[in-house]
Amino acid sequence: MKTRIRISIRGAVQGFGFRPFIFRLAIEQRLNGFVRNTGSGVLIEAEGEKEILENFILKIKKGKPVHSSIHSMECIYLDPVNFSGFEIKESSKEEGKKAFISPDIAVCDDCLKELFDPGNRRYLYPFINCTNCGPRYTIIESIPYDRPNTSMKDFRMCSRCKEEYDEPFNRRFHAQPIACPDCGPAIALWNRRGSVISGYSTALPDMVRLLKQGKIIALKGLGGFQLIADACSDKAVKLLRDRKNREEKPFAVMVQDIESAERICVTDALERQLLLSPESPVVLLEKKSNPEIMLSEFVAPGNPYFGIMLPYTPLHHILMKSIRTPVIATSGNISEEPMCIDEQEALDRLGGIADYFLVHNRKIVRPVDDSVVRMVQGREMLIRRARGYAPLPMHLEADDGNIILALGAQLKNTVALKTGGDVFISQHIGDLGNIETEELLKKTIEDLSTIYKSTPATIVQDLHPGYTGSRISVHPGNARIEVQHHHAHAASCYYENQLSGSCLAVCWDGTGYGTDGSIWGGEFFKFDGEKFQHAAQLKQFTIPGNDNAVKDIKRSALGVLYNIYGENTLRIIKNISPFSGDPDIPLLLQMLEKKINSFSTSSAGRLFDAVSFLAGTGRYSRYEGEAAMELEFTAAENITDIYPFDIEKENLLIINWHPMIEKIIREIREKVDKPVIAARFHNTLIRIILTIALMLNEKKVVLSGGCFQNMYLLNGVIDKLRSNNFIPFWHQRIPTNDGGISFGQAAYTSKLLSKKEEDKECV
Ligand code: ZN
Ligand code: ZN
Ligand code: FE
Repeated sequence: MKTRIRISIRGAVQGFGFRPFIFRLAIEQRLNGFVRNTGSGVLIEAEGEKEILENFILKIKKGKPVHSSIHSMECIYLDPVNFSGFEIKESSKEEGKKAFISPDIAVCDDCLKELFDPGNRRYLYPFINCTNCGPRYTIIESIPYDRPNTSMKDFRMCSRCKEEYDEPFNRRFHAQPIACPDCGPAIALWNRRGSVISGYSTALPDMVRLLKQGKIIALKGLGGFQLIADACSDKAVKLLRDRKNREEKPFAVMVQDIESAERICVTDALERQLLLSPESPVVLLEKKSNPEIMLSEFVAPGNPYFGIMLPYTPLHHILMKSIRTPVIATSGNISEEPMCIDEQEALDRLGGIADYFLVHNRKIVRPVDDSVVRMVQGREMLIRRARGYAPLPMHLEADDGNIILALGAQLKNTVALKTGGDVFISQHIGDLGNIETEELLKKTIEDLSTIYKSTPATIVQDLHPGYTGSRISVHPGNARIEVQHHHAHAASCYYENQLSGSCLAVCWDGTGYGTDGSIWGGEFFKFDGEKFQHAAQLKQFTIPGNDNAVKDIKRSALGVLYNIYGENTLRIIKNISPFSGDPDIPLLLQMLEKKINSFSTSSAGRLFDAVSFLAGTGRYSRYEGEAAMELEFTAAENITDIYPFDIEKENLLIINWHPMIEKIIREIREKVDKPVIAARFHNTLIRIILTIALMLNEKKVVLSGGCFQNMYLLNGVIDKLRSNNFIPFWHQRIPTNDGGISFGQAAYTSKLLSKKEEDKECV
């Protein structure tokens, strides 16, 4: 099947024969399309078979002209437009004027060579960098990007660095963060009281020694503190879990090189390239059944994937080269709070977790977490968009001319600023609802307006009156527009894939405030880029409790059963072992009967929770989506059958899942294996989506919302839709979870405002 790929390459690629190189490569591979220069690099569009395009991406990296340097490479697959031939296009004038703030770039090969060359004056210097690599977004205070506007202003260049900085033919010509052991930042190892226990040359060897003893070290990295521990030591990993608020989430792991990654996980060529890319994200990779390096079972318990990354700063490279064993590298924060970026803050907040602190004196201007990416059907899918990607923009095809600030959702919050045709999406901010994250949100809003010199005229917020974004005062006096949560999900996927015309949008997630005041999460819309028609919904049910129901999943299970069995619920649950002996049940049932302290929802996420609890795969969701993931990972392969369900026609289609749950209850009684129940449940949801697609008959189907992080569901839906001649679209550069809401809000509002302008002109 033919498809189109758009590749935005940023970096030092102009004037090195890059466009002719792309041209030759495209001709060689018989690809049609174009290449042209942009303000910050080159833009390529190419059309052809998927395998050939994948090969094309790999070849760009491998064969790029000497001296050219790629700082970031973002690929997005789009519908073909039937180019004839391949051409080198002239660059547009407007493009040339744009100044983008660069994300942070992983250390380049040239710098790495010097770093480990005993004869080089920057031998083992943890802050080596050049024009092609090093810190950017994390050190920039304001634009233009010059040294006095970065946190490197605290360091006065020595004469040798100054010479390199001034020499046009030097690799460090105008490298703003240029530094060396004589003039640049330095590291030190501190104890919990903040006293230096090891200085510049011994700090890292001492850190390695302590890690091998099972200690936990807070390391001041590029975008904030990370907690580091020996990933092969059960004792160390367990200690970290216990101290980090008994956290259950899988930990990210840093390995010394690509070979080590291959010893632990199954990788393909695209995944290896992603690991080695300048963005250097955490890549979710399938665990090997017979790994050559054994990580502790506490790293990602019960999860078939590890989040793996390679060293990306010189500091990490030196550390990994001397420790020679994988380490946990997880955000240095307490549960939902933002990452620490300052030494004093770290001592205060991480003192109960870390035994020692590896610090340095280069200020981090803003926290930027590690990004998380996975490959889906040969395409990248960003799950957390932060280091290496933020604050690069997404481009909108049409520009309404307004400056729009979108405040995003409550969980996994990001904000977005639309100016010109670009939407700049902030780095991952986190879950709002504590003071620290709220402060970071406000700071990030200010930050985006300052660095892009744009004052927003329109503010977009979620419909939920209780969200932080709806409450905080931002640019008071400006117009505020509300966009419904699932509309924003739909729009984010629609505009990311640059669609036009009508589509069916499937928006499945945990929670979003609906236009009718109930909690939505299993929604289908007809959407044409402007207007939404609510077309179908999962049957609503009532859950006893409020926000606590998200974690305490038995409440969802009870709600689902009560919706079917009413007063007979108590009798039914006698046969379901996870409920047995639970003292909360009578009270929860009373809440349901009397309709107090409870809420109605059509959430697919809560339905996942309910089935996970009933089937006995999950007991509690200690972090968002935990129980649903347990159900996903339990599902057996090679099961194809489904449970029954009904579609009821009201003013919209209602998907009645009662027959499915009734069958599941029977199977639980008959002791059918959990993996079989889990698989049949997933298959049923896939069939539900296909059924609605067939009934509504829209060729394009857009998939968005946190549920589509579930690979069984996403891959199943994509395959099923394709084999029935639908064209499925899912997320690539924008998170499918609530991290993508801000982009959807901004893109959709931009469309609405431009429509208003058009209407005015018509009158
Ligand atoms: Zn470099
Ligand atoms: Zn120097
Ligand atoms: Fe959502």
